[in-house]
Amino acid sequence: MSLCLCGYSPALFFSLPHCSFYASKPLHPHLPHAPHPPAIITTMLWQPPLPDKYTRMTEPQLVSAINARREKLGDQVVILGHHYQQDSVIQFADFTGDSFKLSQLAAQKVRETGAKYVVFLGVHFMAESADILAPEGTVVILPDMGAGCSMADMADYDQTVDCWETLTDTYRDMNVRVIPVCYMNCTAAIKAFCGQHGGAVCTSSNADTVLKWALAGGTEPRADGETIKILFLPDQHLGRNTAAAMGYDTLTDMCLWNPRNPDDTDADELKRSTFILWKGHCSVHKLFRPEHVDQIRAMWPDVTVMVHPECDHGVVQKADLTGSTEGIMQAIRAAEPGSRWAIGTEVHMVNRLANEAAERDVTVRMLSDCQCLCTTMYRIDMPHLLWVLDQLTGSDDGQTPAKIVNQITVHPEAKKWATVALDRMLALVGTGNVHPPTPSPASTS
Ligand code: SF4
Repeated sequence: MSLCLCGYSPALFFSLPHCSFYASKPLHPHLPHAPHPPAIITTMLWQPPLPDKYTRMTEPQLVSAINARREKLGDQVVILGHHYQQDSVIQFADFTGDSFKLSQLAAQKVRETGAKYVVFLGVHFMAESADILAPEGTVVILPDMGAGCSMADMADYDQTVDCWETLTDTYRDMNVRVIPVCYMNCTAAIKAFCGQHGGAVCTSSNADTVLKWALAGGTEPRADGETIKILFLPDQHLGRNTAAAMGYDTLTDMCLWNPRNPDDTDADELKRSTFILWKGHCSVHKLFRPEHVDQIRAMWPDVTVMVHPECDHGVVQKADLTGSTEGIMQAIRAAEPGSRWAIGTEVHMVNRLANEAAERDVTVRMLSDCQCLCTTMYRIDMPHLLWVLDQLTGSDDGQTPAKIVNQITVHPEAKKWATVALDRMLALVGTGNVHPPTPSPASTS
């Protein structure tokens, strides 16, 4: 083993010029570290306040101004809208979908139309993914730099390196190989870490396929007598739910890695577990609780409960089905007239699905009455969309020249390794974005 256990390359430094958190990191993780930030780490980027004219405009004025700007930009711009966005902005999206599907579409449409700009109505890690996959020279824009993701922010690069060093030390005298697998909902730096260390990215619809690949040895088939362990990050729930559906025991085959307090996990747990689950979660999906399933079944005995695998395992166990955002949409669109569904995912998507399904006499509602809303995604609104489009066109009188604001750029070295991790996933699952819903343990028992 080389002196540098983490495999860190000084060239692999993922600084974002506009992000003081990343820029404050030491150039090598083995140099003394600055103290890790407390509890929840935020990579929320600075968003300048909009000029008053944008916040004073009425809704019809905003709609008309955005349409005028889009007309002026024509094929130069592609607008992508994540399913969790509010209606007021998703109406302007050329394409809607989950984050991976949208990033693939961005790359495809840029190639087809020669578009120069991709405006991503989503959150920061999604815009990073679009920048990774889009052809060289494409400008990816996030209308509000404050639109981060609490889950992605729970795993940073330095913490991942620290974890890797502990795992390397723990398994030093054992015939163990650790393969890192990251959920799409993480920063480009984490995707790159996985790419550089023999791992891959997964989505909520293909996590089982990627985990099976990793357990078989990933890029190198597992040798006789060798044990494979998975470091799964940043969402503990997707990792736990997927491994449990594959037959692994949630108590004995898995342990949690708390990046804020690594001493929470002892060496025996690490040695015993097949899955080391990063202690991260989605602040939206964690709001669903098992009793919500009981309550809805008491109200509607014939209901089908379908939840996203970012929900707690107790919720997934009680549900009838689990599925990614695309999987949930497919299930509702195929539902029998007269059927009733309770869905555990973000409220804007569920409300849109409910309106669409009502026309076919399918009843859809949220699993709980709590406000399960992605507050960071909610920051993307019409004033911010108009502001970035205004900057791209410049003023009509020519007084204000066109300029690019809020561009999301991934460091070329991070892009290279993140692409490796994404390509490993694509080699397993093809286009990878639409799979049938995965039955939960509850529905298969
Ligand atoms: S719904 Fe959860 S995982 Fe998705 S962007 Fe919002 S905080 Fe992140």
